[in-house]
Amino acid sequence: MPRPIQATIHTDALRHNLERARQAAPDARVWAIVKANAYGHGIERVFEGFRGADGFALLDLEEARRVRALGWRGPILLLEGVFELRDLELCSRLDLWHTVHCDEQIDMLATHKTNVPHRVFLKMNSGMNRLGFTPQRYRAAWTRLNALPQVDEISLMTHFSDADGPKGVATQMAVFAEVTRDLPGERSLSNSAATLRHNVTATDASSHPDTQVASDWVRPGIALYGSAPDFPQHSATHWSLQPGMTLATKIIATQDLATGAMVGYGSTFVAERPMRIGVLACGYADGYPRACSTGTPVLVNGVRTRMVGRVSMDMITVDLTPVPGAGFCSEATLWGRAANGVVLDIDEVAQCAGTVGYELMCALAARVPVVVAE
Ligand SMILES: *Cc1c(COP(=O)(O)O)cnc(C)c1O
Repeated sequence: MPRPIQATIHTDALRHNLERARQAAPDARVWAIVKANAYGHGIERVFEGFRGADGFALLDLEEARRVRALGWRGPILLLEGVFELRDLELCSRLDLWHTVHCDEQIDMLATHKTNVPHRVFLKMNSGMNRLGFTPQRYRAAWTRLNALPQVDEISLMTHFSDADGPKGVATQMAVFAEVTRDLPGERSLSNSAATLRHNVTATDASSHPDTQVASDWVRPGIALYGSAPDFPQHSATHWSLQPGMTLATKIIATQDLATGAMVGYGSTFVAERPMRIGVLACGYADGYPRACSTGTPVLVNGVRTRMVGRVSMDMITVDLTPVPGAGFCSEATLWGRAANGVVLDIDEVAQCAGTVGYELMCALAARVPVVVAE
């Protein structure tokens, strides 16, 4: 028998979360962001759940090819655009839309030979200082692109640095609105946090024309997978999101500890009273963060308990005090939904590791078998 660890992808939850994004931005079309192999879930495994999206957005040409191989004929957007001239040929062949964020990408387009002009998303660096043309240089880039026979429609896009926090989106939104005011084309601004926290309907936008930019395309990623973009301020439950992935395993051994007994490498946990612990088949080689330690929540038989001691490569240890009936082969849920329906948010586990749900999803190890549930 293989080790009992398994990840489950919940197609119904993915579909539900996509619907939530639509409700939050009812006037917009929705890109399902599936970069990084669908945030670690697997592009092929999430496709069914997200096929109701208006398009798929990602970074990697190979991943774009995989989406086309699934039979998707709708829009696919490359969020970082192309990296070399050759990539443009694949864009032509696979009918990919691509971001243009720097002069070098315009240079490549200008030398690209194609019969079918490309749909591009011109990216503005509205303050994050990662990708995009500065507000001062944005319109010149638009004019240059617009003159190229290789270019069809130009859409306008930017990305928020603080949509999940107190700084919010107002400053970047104002910059974007000001610079793009009279430019034609569709707009795309919002990631998950902006879509859920700062959504602007077309009606709002017309009543606050100076600060608001109606969005034609939203770009939710993390929310589609059931993690709250602004945890711990809000939880996934607050946003009515459901976990897209469950990571579950079983108890493979138990130990009865006397007062003073220690657990695991470094003996970091010391029993303060007699207690029973369970050993779970899950460790950092499965993608469970080693930064977690005593106190990280875990579900055993759907009952909340805590990790004790350190995470090892292949095992963790949990306190069985709240679940006296648990023993060899009992179900344990590291994140996601237990068999009894109780949910442990991936965001809570991530917080214990000093990171975010995104990183845990993406780090699911290749050795963990994954099944897709309806
Ligand atoms: C990853 C990404 C998103 C999605 O961000 P989430 O926080 O996961 O919603 C949106 N836009 C761009 C440009 C991205 O790279």
